[in-house]
Amino acid sequence: MPLSEFELIDRFFRGCGTQRSDVPLGVGDDAALIECPPDRQLVAAIDTLVEGVHFPAGSPAASVGHRALAVNLSDLAAMGAEPGWALLALTLPRADERWLEEFSRGLAALAREFGVALVGGDTTCGPLCVTIQILGSVERGTALTRSGAAAGEALYVSGTPGDAAAGLQLEQSRLELADAHSARYLRDRFLFPAPRVALGRRLRAYASACIDVSDGLLGDAGKLARASGCGVELDYEMLPVSLALAAAVGPERARGLALTGGDDYELLFSVPPSRTDDLARDLPADEWRYTRIGTLRGESGAVVTRNGSVIDFSHYGFDHFASVR
Ligand code: ADP
Ligand code: MG
Repeated sequence: MPLSEFELIDRFFRGCGTQRSDVPLGVGDDAALIECPPDRQLVAAIDTLVEGVHFPAGSPAASVGHRALAVNLSDLAAMGAEPGWALLALTLPRADERWLEEFSRGLAALAREFGVALVGGDTTCGPLCVTIQILGSVERGTALTRSGAAAGEALYVSGTPGDAAAGLQLEQSRLELADAHSARYLRDRFLFPAPRVALGRRLRAYASACIDVSDGLLGDAGKLARASGCGVELDYEMLPVSLALAAAVGPERARGLALTGGDDYELLFSVPPSRTDDLARDLPADEWRYTRIGTLRGESGAVVTRNGSVIDFSHYGFDHFASVR
């Protein structure tokens, strides 16, 4: 007997994640009720993952559940917000119990890690597609945005971008790596990204602008700069690259992937010169895992410099790197 829609929701999604006292009514009614504190602003984001577009067909179900929430948590992280509640619109080709079990396990584990309650959703039949809407809150007037940066400010990135892009290539057998430990690390960076929620919340006191890196560091740096009405210069030599990524593709291609690969879900943020010492003192870079990679500038556009001269990405391997996704 296939699962009915009611049984499916009841078994896999009722009570998924953290049980929060500010949710007097969650899954089961026509809509959920949420108590929102009066001194805070509601923060909302939504993201869809389509099989074959945002993850390879046949990806582990736990990873699909994890990533669907992680990409949304990353958006809230970039706003400096505290996540609270999520809604899940799930389109499935069939009610495969083993798949659903694994999917909801991946989703629930990450939801519990970040104190998120699944408060509702929708379940339909069709090609595999997962949409999560996340809601969170932030102390009124303190949210980080893309538009607060200014020329002369320092630009930082968390983590080691490029890992997830290599992990995806490994998943798709487009890259080979003999070292099993490094291969596992890179695959996990794609399959199970760690949203930088704690860092985002702390950055509200230091950063002037923030964006999460989902479409490639260079492009997303350009978006932050454009939203702020300035430009940005990234220093090729300063780009942080993991040992695993350098081992997988060599140091040069590793930096290309760091600049143009996607799916990193790291934070890219600007800090005014007057705040960089405080940032380094209060949030030590080795503990919080971030690196200075460049500077905001007056002239518009995003450029990469190496030993003081601009690298032209239209000639310097850009096509090579662009073919990665
Ligand atoms: P309605 O027909 O009123 O929209 P549904 O039968 O679609 O209600 O859903 C019943 C309840 O189950 C609602 O509270 C809805 O939010 C919840 N729900 C449905 N699908 C999901 C899902 N995939 N994850 C979490 N909650 C879900
Ligand atoms: Mg209804």
